[in-house]
Amino acid sequence: MEDDIRATLAQLEAARTLIVICHYDPDGDAIGTMLGLTWALRGMGKRVTPACRDGAPWPLDFLPGSAEVVTDLAGLEADTVVVVDCSDARRGGKLYKQAVELGVPIINIDHHVTNTRFGAVNLVRPDRVAAAEVVFELLGRMGFDFDLNTATCLLTGLVTDTRSFKTPNVDQRVLRAAITLMDIGVSLPEVVQMAMERKQFHDLAILGRALGDVRFEDGVAWSALSLEAWRATDGGAMSAAPRNFSTLLNSVEEAAVGVFFTEMANRRIDISMRSKPPVNLTVLFAEGAPLHGQGGGHPQASGAEIDGPLEAAISRLVPALKALVSAQT
Ligand code: 5GP
Ligand code: MN
Repeated sequence: MEDDIRATLAQLEAARTLIVICHYDPDGDAIGTMLGLTWALRGMGKRVTPACRDGAPWPLDFLPGSAEVVTDLAGLEADTVVVVDCSDARRGGKLYKQAVELGVPIINIDHHVTNTRFGAVNLVRPDRVAAAEVVFELLGRMGFDFDLNTATCLLTGLVTDTRSFKTPNVDQRVLRAAITLMDIGVSLPEVVQMAMERKQFHDLAILGRALGDVRFEDGVAWSALSLEAWRATDGGAMSAAPRNFSTLLNSVEEAAVGVFFTEMANRRIDISMRSKPPVNLTVLFAEGAPLHGQGGGHPQASGAEIDGPLEAAISRLVPALKALVSAQT
């Protein structure tokens, strides 16, 4: 057995009271993995609290356990903390800082190639499509008898990070994992419908605005959403739909990279990027590269958070992306 799996199993088996954290602005893999691991560890008789700064936002609030997600660690006790789907400590935000203050071992379970190995124990598998797949395999090693709650949450992680099994990293291994979870009784069409297909009217209004401003130059397609434009819609919560706009931009045949800029409430800029092979976005995070220390991700799907204002962020990043395209294609 690999050393990191052995160390993770030993730490988890010894734990009695755990907190499982995922990153803020969570996606389906973050929430699904956090809640899936929560249910599994509870099934092993442990006390487990799931925690995310933003709770389990729509459309992920259909998942079992979503109402129990705490948004702050104040007053909580634990002998072990698990952080899932976080490429670095920054992505854990305030909850990660609170976890460090607890002074207990932190287990880092992730699948980002840019993971900074911030844990006392690090189980990082960049060749896995989702953090949910890493946890699925870990639980299999523990001989865990999957229950419906755990299976529903982990299948959601697989579905969302592969965009319903459409990303280039999907293979038989991934589909077998999905079938194992379906054998427990989870409905794949229901998970796809609930986690991927639903949109709120507000999301369409935002998409409409973002589409109106789409730009394309030198292989890079981009668009942005300012806080003002977002407020000019009905002001509903920002869901995953506009964030995934980078996927739509990258689907443009002529584009090698699609990038979407979102101005957040604190006026910082969230950047969501997608590329077509061979363009590898993760080089943007290397030492000395434009986004070093500000984000992370996978070769064809990465993200970062940088200083505003919005126009400055765009004029800083778009040339860097054009240069990347010209160097790699
Ligand atoms: P997304 O575009 O789906 O928001 O994120 C793409 C990938 O980049 C995800 O795997 C996400 O976890 C990773 N990522 C790492 N840091 C950041 C960040 O600061 N913002 C965003 N949006 N994604 C990030
Ligand atoms: Mn993930």
